[in-house]
Amino acid sequence: MPRPILATIHTAALRNNIQCASLAAPDSKVWAVVKANAYGHGIERVFEGLRSADGFALLDLDEASRVRKLGWRGPILLLEGVFEQRDLELCSRLGLWHTVHSDEQIQMLATHKTEVPHRVFLKMNSGMNRLGFSPQQYRAAWVRLNALPQVEEISLATHFSDADGAKGIAEQLQVFNTATQDLPGERSLANSAAALRHSTSAAADWIRPGIALYGSAPDFPEHSQGDWQLLPTMTLSSKIIAIQAINTPATVGYGSIFKAERPMTIGVVACGYADGYPRHCSTGTPVLVNGIRTRTVGRVSMDMITVDLEPLKLAGIEAGIGSEVTLWGRASNGAVLPIDEVAQAGGTVGYELMCALAQRVPTVVEPE
Ligand SMILES: *Cc1c(COP(=O)(O)O)cnc(C)c1O
Repeated sequence: MPRPILATIHTAALRNNIQCASLAAPDSKVWAVVKANAYGHGIERVFEGLRSADGFALLDLDEASRVRKLGWRGPILLLEGVFEQRDLELCSRLGLWHTVHSDEQIQMLATHKTEVPHRVFLKMNSGMNRLGFSPQQYRAAWVRLNALPQVEEISLATHFSDADGAKGIAEQLQVFNTATQDLPGERSLANSAAALRHSTSAAADWIRPGIALYGSAPDFPEHSQGDWQLLPTMTLSSKIIAIQAINTPATVGYGSIFKAERPMTIGVVACGYADGYPRHCSTGTPVLVNGIRTRTVGRVSMDMITVDLEPLKLAGIEAGIGSEVTLWGRASNGAVLPIDEVAQAGGTVGYELMCALAQRVPTVVEPE
């Protein structure tokens, strides 16, 4: 038997989640963001669930080729644009739309030979200070781009730093709107958090949801995935491979950081940090055993974690070798353990957990 760890991708949940994003901004087109191999899910595995998108947005040219190979003829957007001159050849060949955020990228376009002019998204740095032209430089960049025969149509874009939090988007929105007031072209501003929380002001022509498509609340813990009607799209599951009945005094795992205060039963689970389970999730991280919520105890090791089986005993539920363990996502009994709660216990965010799913974890798409 193979090691029992498994990741399952839920197509129906992807379909539900992209609809949630669409409903939040009903007049906007949707870029389904599938960068980082669809947030660790696998582009090929999410394609079916996300095919109601108006376009796919990503970073790697290789990922763009994969989306075309799946038969997608619609728009594909490179969110960081091209990295070197010859990337533009692939843009021409595959009909990729690309972000333009720097003078260097305009220069590359100006010397690019193409029969078909490109669609570009001109990016403004409206306050995040990562990519884009400053509001002062923006119009000049637009004029230069507009004069190039290589350019067919210019859309306008920016990205918010605080759509998920208290600061919000008002300042950046004002900067963007002021600087683009009389420029023609479609606009794209909103990531998941902005689309869900600020759609009246930020929906524009295209929204760019990523994390919400994958069933994680962009503003956890203020809201949970359930508050936004999002469903988990990735379940990481495994099984108990050993049981330890321990008496006090006893400790569990490396560094003896967990000390049992009373006799208890511990389940040893085939999942560790080499599978992408965060090592920071020591004692107290929620986990489901046979769909019942319990917690990890002790340190996460490379191939194993240890879990407290006392709550199952109290509930009168049997657990032993072979019992199902849900690290995040949906258990067989329908119980859900939001990835955001696991991430929080490890001091990180759902994004990082999904993206870090290890290569060695076999992954299947749930049959519908
Ligand atoms: C990653 C990314 C998004 C999606 O962000 P989420 O928070 O995952 O919704 C949107 N726009 C740009 C430019 C991005 O890089």
